[in-house]
Amino acid sequence: MAETYERSSLKFDEPEPVMLDYSPEADMDALAQFQYITTSASRVEHALGDCEGCSCQHHCTPAQGATELRAACCCFTECIKGLHALKDHGRAAGLVRLLECGPACSCNASCPARPTQTGVTHQLALFWDGLKGWCVKALQPISQGSFVAEYAGEYVTGVEAERRLTIYDTEERGHALLVVRVQLPSGSSCLKVCIDATRRGNVARFINHSCDGGNLEPVIVTSRGSLLPRVALFAARDITQGEELSFCYAVSNTATSSATSEVAAAASRRHCFCGAANCPGFLPSA
Ligand SMILES: [Zn+2]
Ligand SMILES: [Zn+2]
Ligand SMILES: [Zn+2]
Ligand SMILES: [Zn+2]
Repeated sequence: MAETYERSSLKFDEPEPVMLDYSPEADMDALAQFQYITTSASRVEHALGDCEGCSCQHHCTPAQGATELRAACCCFTECIKGLHALKDHGRAAGLVRLLECGPACSCNASCPARPTQTGVTHQLALFWDGLKGWCVKALQPISQGSFVAEYAGEYVTGVEAERRLTIYDTEERGHALLVVRVQLPSGSSCLKVCIDATRRGNVARFINHSCDGGNLEPVIVTSRGSLLPRVALFAARDITQGEELSFCYAVSNTATSSATSEVAAAASRRHCFCGAANCPGFLPSA
């Protein structure tokens, strides 16, 4: 990948392999005001003492925790099943939620049932497009089902999200606010979380919407013991080197039972330049 690195003039962020393709027309102010964080996970949310995690040592395997009376590690089985579905079927897997090991588990960070806790590992680059503004592309091939990036940002309440949107609209600068709705286990109620990546977030904040679904699939991730769900972007199909990354800002799933979970952008009526055949010309909104 050395040659692609040379083409990019700047490293956008130190801890993650995200480069910056400089262009004289680019809005560098937007980047200067942007604070890079690698995850939405908050440090104060390890308080769910009654949440059951697994008690595997080092990293979870299918056999760990299994006894004659008890099934093997529940996190591993469920998480790996989801990852396999994504790898084998990409978007067609229809995976909207993924459960992974978290603060309530005793395994370590290298556990394969923590696929979205690694940060960005593929080499990506920001580049400027006259119509779309900042875009993100892959500097290396990414295979279907791979974790690409968390959609990192600040958790805000619905009321605060509304307040911020009004401000962002008057500033006439783009915003990046995702609304996540998760059906609670009871089935009767829904948890709504807003992730605002407008000023604090990671590379995912610059990934554009595509009306045909793009090449990434947003998945709602629940880590055992974490209070709030996160959003992770996986490769919906094989992605080639140099290809722009995109995903649909409005994804919901009602196919599996009656449960509804969805990820959608809290966007006001903004133009869409994705170029897909079915593009209505505007971004979807929650
Ligand atoms: Zn684990
Ligand atoms: Zn385990
Ligand atoms: Zn676990
Ligand atoms: Zn479009």
